[in-house]
Amino acid sequence: MEISIVKAGPDQLKPKPADESNLGFGDIFTDHMFLMNYESAKGWFNPRVEPYSKISIEPAAMAIHYGQEIFEGLKAYHGDNGGISLFRPRDNYDRFNRSARRMCMPEVDIDLAITGTAELILLDREWIPKSPGTSLYIRPTMIATEPHLGVRPAKEYLFFVIIGPVGAYYKEGLNPVKIYVEDFYVRAARGGTGEAKTAGNYAASLFAAEEAKAKGFTQVLWLDAAEHKYVEEVGTMNMFFVIDDTVITSPLGGSVLAGITRDSAIQLVRDWGMKFEERALSIDEVISAAQDGRLKEAFGTGTAAVISPVGQITYKGKDHIVAGGKMGEISQRLYDEITAIQYGKKKDPHGWVIHID
Ligand SMILES: *Cc1c(COP(=O)(O)O)cnc(C)c1O
Repeated sequence: MEISIVKAGPDQLKPKPADESNLGFGDIFTDHMFLMNYESAKGWFNPRVEPYSKISIEPAAMAIHYGQEIFEGLKAYHGDNGGISLFRPRDNYDRFNRSARRMCMPEVDIDLAITGTAELILLDREWIPKSPGTSLYIRPTMIATEPHLGVRPAKEYLFFVIIGPVGAYYKEGLNPVKIYVEDFYVRAARGGTGEAKTAGNYAASLFAAEEAKAKGFTQVLWLDAAEHKYVEEVGTMNMFFVIDDTVITSPLGGSVLAGITRDSAIQLVRDWGMKFEERALSIDEVISAAQDGRLKEAFGTGTAAVISPVGQITYKGKDHIVAGGKMGEISQRLYDEITAIQYGKKKDPHGWVIHID
């Protein structure tokens, strides 16, 4: 399918942020976007790059009423050699299609989606920041647009990709976060939609996260929905714990989002010959390891932060300091290695980096 391109006119171009040290995350979008439409009788049609603008949908659009929405998050980088690259984009679009299947939405052609994304990025390449740690965040999204009231899968969808420069996640080094172990509210149950990157999961997580924030915590650590016993994930990150010298992460099991940073971290830990276990890990085991001084590190993994060290875990009213409240050795090594590969400073033995220019 041919991707048509309509460039923004001079009066549609937005001023680019002057200060790369203050980009923040998720507030700035570039001059263009990639879109395509779907109708069940036609399939996907009209892939196009257009000026970034408001989109118009009917008030009866089914996404608004019944929540058929999925999204992805990945990044483009200005490499040290001046080229532009993406990190594991095929894995993101594979996951997008898995989310689509779970939500009864149409899958996209992965090659077309990557080509459209790359054309968009190249058209807006001047927006990619160059300072260390900065990148271009990419947000592929699909919504049900058919105007209809009544619960069933929609017959019309809009796919779009918007992009925007984002700052170095950690301005003053990697600051360990305080996490609150949530033992009442749940994010996702086995058999539910936790493994899909779909809007409703995040709406469902807000209440507990706001309560935790009000108590001074950065994030909520979710436990499994059935028993409130096993650790699952944190906010929009997968969780890893280092107990003695073993790196441990929860299995996916249908309620945990299959993070691409999680997968990259597992691969590297294995490459380095470290002891690694993917297994159900109870919060009691984590807390008793923390009390015995055997919990050496805890960290989250996700595209936005890459690695987010945990400095404190609070469970049932008791605070447990992890790694002396500092960034642990393995957390630091993973952060350094993954970002070095992303920015083209180090060899990429697993073929994760795709050069688009
Ligand atoms: C996106 C996301 C992650 C991290 O996935 P990455 O592919 O590593 O960015 C983890 N958990 C949840 C709930 C997420 O939405």
